[in-house]
Amino acid sequence: MAKLTISNLDKRFGAFDILKNVNLEIPSGEFVVFVGPSGCGKSTLLRCISGLETVSGGTLSIDGVDVTKVPPSQRGIAMVFQSYALYPHMSVFDNMAYALKIQKLGKAEIEAKVRDAARKLQLEPLLERLPRQLSGGQRQRVAIGRAIVRDPKVFLFDEPLSNLDAALRVQTRLEIATLKQSLPDTTMIYVTHDQVEAMTLADRIVVLNAGRVEQVGKPLDLYERPASLFVAGFIGSPKMNLLGGEHAARFGATTIGVRPEHLTVSAGGEGWAGKVLRTEHLGSESYVYVDIGPGEPMIVRTPGTSAFVHGNAVVLQASDADVLRFDAKGARMDR
Ligand code: ATP
Repeated sequence: MAKLTISNLDKRFGAFDILKNVNLEIPSGEFVVFVGPSGCGKSTLLRCISGLETVSGGTLSIDGVDVTKVPPSQRGIAMVFQSYALYPHMSVFDNMAYALKIQKLGKAEIEAKVRDAARKLQLEPLLERLPRQLSGGQRQRVAIGRAIVRDPKVFLFDEPLSNLDAALRVQTRLEIATLKQSLPDTTMIYVTHDQVEAMTLADRIVVLNAGRVEQVGKPLDLYERPASLFVAGFIGSPKMNLLGGEHAARFGATTIGVRPEHLTVSAGGEGWAGKVLRTEHLGSESYVYVDIGPGEPMIVRTPGTSAFVHGNAVVLQASDADVLRFDAKGARMDR
């Protein structure tokens, strides 16, 4: 069991404030995903938690014990990186056993721990192989296995799937979800750029913006009830449509936002009139890009194959309940 508490954490690199007063409480066994734009400080926050970076201010504690100044190897934390860093001349078994040998555990205990981790990760048939005889996804699993055998209280993942191709990413994502179920007491923190990974793996998502926590919440809460324009625009792919000026003023807001799947396209009627710029057919659904005047084109996500094509005059509609309103500071109204 391990509750992680981050209090008033600051991190500076020289003159740059990278993390600013980060406060987070992560209960035991929770799977938390950090997301945010490139450079917002996700990896730095993870490295501060692991102890690979020292903090400039604030404290970190695990189960109420202050670990801010405890060396990385004594925090009970394991980190899995996107580059797997396996020992090339050692078998899968020896790669996984290495840290336990250093700890001078007995042979039988090492064997039992490695076999147990291998079973959880479906690595049993591969234990005698060398890393170069494995696929990228299998190597990633060995890297996770190496961390599991140490029985960490907290597991940190820094974009573990980003080197894998699309199909393997999906497969390994499902394996991580299974792993999470088989380690219900282990607290896991995961950094990703991938919206699907964040939405599907997280118990809670932490959205970081320029070194600050912008919002923390369950994936669907962030999707359906973003607290700010920033979160509304960041969570969701394709992105939420955002409109200002007259369009927003009619709703009494500075900016309004509508999810692509909440818009319908038709040939006429009341709504936002525009012209189709382009239609993308993905098979199960289509994205229709519509120019309704100044600003970004609107994106409509519609099931099946849309009949609307480049040049068609169309009208977009959304029900009022699906229009989110934001004030001049970017805060959600009606919350
Ligand atoms: P990405 O999604 O691109 O990986 P990130 O959110 O993980 O980004 P970080 O890697 O945490 O971002 O970096 C946050 C900021 O800190 C960036 O502006 C980066 O340039 C800066 N930074 C990171 N490490 C150092 C360092 N050792 N020295 C100076 N600046 C650093």
